[in-house]
Amino acid sequence: MRFGYSELCLDHDTGERHPENPDRLRAIREGLKRKHGVEYVEADPAGRDAIDAVHDTDYVDEVVEFCESGGGNWDPDTVASGGTWAAARAAAGQAQWAAKEGLANDPGRRTPFALGRPPGHHAVEADAMGFCFVNNVAVAAQSVIDDGLADRVAIFDWDVHHGNGTQDIFYDRGDVLYSSIHEDGLYPGTGAVDETGEGDGEGATLNVPLPAGAGDADFLAAIDDVISPVVDRFDADLLLISAGFDAHRHDPISRMRVSTEGYALMTQRMRTLAEMTDTGLGFVLEGGYGLDTLSEGVAMVHETFDGRPPIEPDKDPEDRTEPLLTDLREQFELE
Ligand SMILES: [Zn+2]
Repeated sequence: MRFGYSELCLDHDTGERHPENPDRLRAIREGLKRKHGVEYVEADPAGRDAIDAVHDTDYVDEVVEFCESGGGNWDPDTVASGGTWAAARAAAGQAQWAAKEGLANDPGRRTPFALGRPPGHHAVEADAMGFCFVNNVAVAAQSVIDDGLADRVAIFDWDVHHGNGTQDIFYDRGDVLYSSIHEDGLYPGTGAVDETGEGDGEGATLNVPLPAGAGDADFLAAIDDVISPVVDRFDADLLLISAGFDAHRHDPISRMRVSTEGYALMTQRMRTLAEMTDTGLGFVLEGGYGLDTLSEGVAMVHETFDGRPPIEPDKDPEDRTEPLLTDLREQFELE
């Protein structure tokens, strides 16, 4: 794979003992060190126009000033430093690169993966939250549409948290599909099955809130039964993956049970879906707070594109998963 990476993203300093810290990117780089076919690209930081296309201008001004004055706690969880604004611009720029490169290439060994931080999917139009300041995947989706490179973009968010910011930004839009699998009841508490979009966006938001304890078989059943058919029907030009690795069974902040192999399987599903539907494919990093599981997860995505065949789980989905998926198949009128 090709990885969008900038040293500027290390300058977002969240202080000691914050789970979202620069060691996350260092661990990912270390984990990719001896892998075959890894290439790094430093894309330009996102411009104000691209950021303002999905965020409120006054809010963005406020973040810039907050960082210029040295930062601090935006809220109890969301911390900025003097380097945060440059890091956020760099992270959004890597995501824009991933979107453009995803559109320009087949989903194979050249598939792009943007390794930015701060993460993005909780950032709403006019506020930072959940460690996120700029919604990277939203900037990326909007910019390829504004540049005339794509008419329709699908986003699949496999981070364990619901991407409330991405959902909100595109909630009334029919040209961007937001789909998510997340842990039911976890931060930020949004992402219920009946949140399906409004106006032109009705049916272009798809939430699969799985109960705590769900693992590989549940995530794959959700993808096979609901996510893939809805993405396929949406007929996007580009599929962006909001790739967090915090649903891993050893991640410290969730109760889900996805294995490292599970990330290979989800990657394989997305690659096949993109190939079958002739859709561009790009990855954008979100969360993941166990340094080992994060670096192993990213390396596994890479290895899957490098030709490693994943191994299907021998377990069945949990009893509570089936009725949820049946309900969603009815809501989304899937045969
Ligand atoms: Zn997360």
